[in-house]
Amino acid sequence: ARPHRDLVYPSGMVYRHHKNNPSIRVMQWNILAQALGEGKDGFIRCPLDALNWQERKYLILEEILTYRPDIVCLQEVDHYYDTFQPIMASLGYNSSFLPKPWSPCLDVEQNNGPDGCALFYRRSRFSLYASAHLRLSAMMLPTNQVAIVQTLKCQVTGRRLCVAVTHLKARSGWERLRSAQGADLLQSLRTITSLGGGRSNAASATVPLVVCGDFNAEPSEDVYRRFTSSSLGLRSAYKLLSSDGQTEPPYTTWKIRPSGESCSTLDYIWYTHDALSVDCLLDIPTEEQIGPDRLPSYHYPSDHLSLLCDISFKEEPHRLM
Ligand code: NDP
Ligand code: CA
Repeated sequence: ARPHRDLVYPSGMVYRHHKNNPSIRVMQWNILAQALGEGKDGFIRCPLDALNWQERKYLILEEILTYRPDIVCLQEVDHYYDTFQPIMASLGYNSSFLPKPWSPCLDVEQNNGPDGCALFYRRSRFSLYASAHLRLSAMMLPTNQVAIVQTLKCQVTGRRLCVAVTHLKARSGWERLRSAQGADLLQSLRTITSLGGGRSNAASATVPLVVCGDFNAEPSEDVYRRFTSSSLGLRSAYKLLSSDGQTEPPYTTWKIRPSGESCSTLDYIWYTHDALSVDCLLDIPTEEQIGPDRLPSYHYPSDHLSLLCDISFKEEPHRLM
């Protein structure tokens, strides 16, 4: 069975459930590209059987649908057109997909096309206000990493929310590239949110922002610092799970490759602290729940854990509506 995970309401957090301001459930998840899992990753303690797509796809969908998120941000999607787009559409989600320009999936025999980022939103809750597909640059040069940025309008509150999903360059030795990609993304987000969501309406206020991603960076890295100190006023949601409210989870991915065991915190949900509050978060499975062979496994379909939280708009006293 999948590990049971609880929704945690951090202490000191006032949980207000307003009929007029229901929270927005956001999921961030690197689902593990099928072609990479079978053909590139080398998860030596995961039986190949556990990676069989015809079964694994149901575990991925089950993980998403168990929590019924309003917004789903995925990385390493290489079954968008044949699986996630049609199934999620039938379940009430609109979506957008942006493949990596040179996806490593294409090197794998019998691949299903490039992997990329995908963003889903519940169409009963949001309408699309503006959308941008970004290829991230570093030092002015285009890179192999992408981001989707969409400004949504909440049908309940009438308020706008900008949502971004990205997957930064992997591996050690590439810290400076990740930092530059983060800087480029932040610059684009500043422009998009200050324009009120991508349309030229300079008079409108800055749009609240949620950024979900596999940053491939521990909290000690430069790109993490860039996000915490940017002028956008972003905070990392999962810090709120810790007892001091200041510490990221001990891991968001845990796997065993020929090179050894790798247990690290690479995935984040950032949110505008001024305008949004985090009501609750899905806790992180224990080492025991993850099991001795780590991830992926028969019980969990990706080497990355899903992150999930409920976010709501803070009251806006000066708003005339
Ligand atoms: P990244 O280095 O960002 O990694 C790509 C994927 O590999 C990620 O999804 C990452 O997963 C995974 N990964 C990370 N660490 C390991 C590991 N130790 N072993 C196996 N997989 C790992 O890739 P790029 O986007 O920079 O693309 C590089 C690849 O793209 C090249 O290997 C090449 O195949 C292809 N390429 C082809 C070009 C061409 O001209 N044809 C040009 C450029 C690239 P996670 O994020 O979960 O860590
Ligand atoms: Ca991966």
